[in-house]
Amino acid sequence: MNNLRTGEKYSLNTTLIHGGNQIDERTGAVNVPIYQTSTYKQDGIGKNRGFEYSRTGNPTRKVLEDLIADLEGGLAGFAFASGMAAITTVLSLYKSGDRIIISHNVYGGTYRVLDKVFKNFGINYTILESEDPEYLSKVITDDVKALLLESPANPLMSITDIRAFSKVAHEKGVKVIVDNTFMTPYLQRPLELGADIVIHSGTKYLGGHSDLVAGLVVVNDKEDAERLAFLQNATGGVLQPFDSFLLIRGIKTLSVRLDRHVENAYRIARYLESNDDVSKVYYPGLETDPGYAVNSKQAKNGGAMISFELKDGHDLNRFFESLELINLAESLGGVESLICHPSTMTHASIPENIRKAVGITDGLIRLSPGIEDVEDIINDLDHAIRESRV
Ligand SMILES: *Cc1c(COP(=O)(O)O)cnc(C)c1O
Repeated sequence: MNNLRTGEKYSLNTTLIHGGNQIDERTGAVNVPIYQTSTYKQDGIGKNRGFEYSRTGNPTRKVLEDLIADLEGGLAGFAFASGMAAITTVLSLYKSGDRIIISHNVYGGTYRVLDKVFKNFGINYTILESEDPEYLSKVITDDVKALLLESPANPLMSITDIRAFSKVAHEKGVKVIVDNTFMTPYLQRPLELGADIVIHSGTKYLGGHSDLVAGLVVVNDKEDAERLAFLQNATGGVLQPFDSFLLIRGIKTLSVRLDRHVENAYRIARYLESNDDVSKVYYPGLETDPGYAVNSKQAKNGGAMISFELKDGHDLNRFFESLELINLAESLGGVESLICHPSTMTHASIPENIRKAVGITDGLIRLSPGIEDVEDIINDLDHAIRESRV
């Protein structure tokens, strides 16, 4: 079991670099070695040096797991082969007959695994249709065991009041799980706001370089930590040592990268807002955004993800094909700008009627601004928008 160490002693910026005790005790190496081993020599029957088998535990992974626990201010961290492996393992805490409430524009893969996998095992879900905590209290039936939130939720960047929702959920004995991928602990710390479990796709801002796929979980309750450790070992979707190393390395520069991502996002959102070809901008960092006030209470700023729609009279194919710098690609949070078309890409696994009902239109575009020079990003967008006019 992990204990809070660096995270209690130092500020977050320092913990990004020193959290999780990264010094190698044996050699003094300032970076944790990649312990590329499946097993560990035991000194006698029942006598090991803390590691037995790398599904159960690996020293490189352990540093990452302690690091994310330090960063989120939790008791224990767990690293998985992907964000979806992390989500699947957390959902495995529940059993047939249990019900989980999810945000209405939750990550497409989360919806898909609930609808196509866990439903077959008798775990049901309810989609939360409103960001009003009053509404939540009405849909919590006796079988509800957990509430799974994202704020901002993707791709409309809608904001949920994590503190208010946690309060309502806890009054009814419901656990609160927050997917904090879009914010990271640098911008938002859900456990401090009342959540019980935090999930990350480490593939995005934490890794930050579009070069790995990983998932992380942090819990702050001893019983949850024991059950998660059991499930991680029992189901086995663990992160490999090399990818653990890469993720630790990515996390070291999280704050400097994110400062630039956010600065660029703000400039780009202002540009889009003032562009006559753009009908809608979704960015909780803009004061005009409906989520601005709540987001400002719970997060450091609006993060770096933006969605927008072009007015009628634009050809979307032509828009995407005219981009020269920004890559049309799934994923987000890398140093390079990425753009996608949610209705056919990231959110294609959500049925069309649900997509339409929550506002994921076919004209919606999602942008993950990178840390390139912001003028270059804006010029690329501006050129593609002009080219797409029909
Ligand atoms: C990408 C993503 C996931 C899934 O993570 P993978 O690493 O792709 O498996 C989960 N939640 C959110 C919010 C994401 O953006």
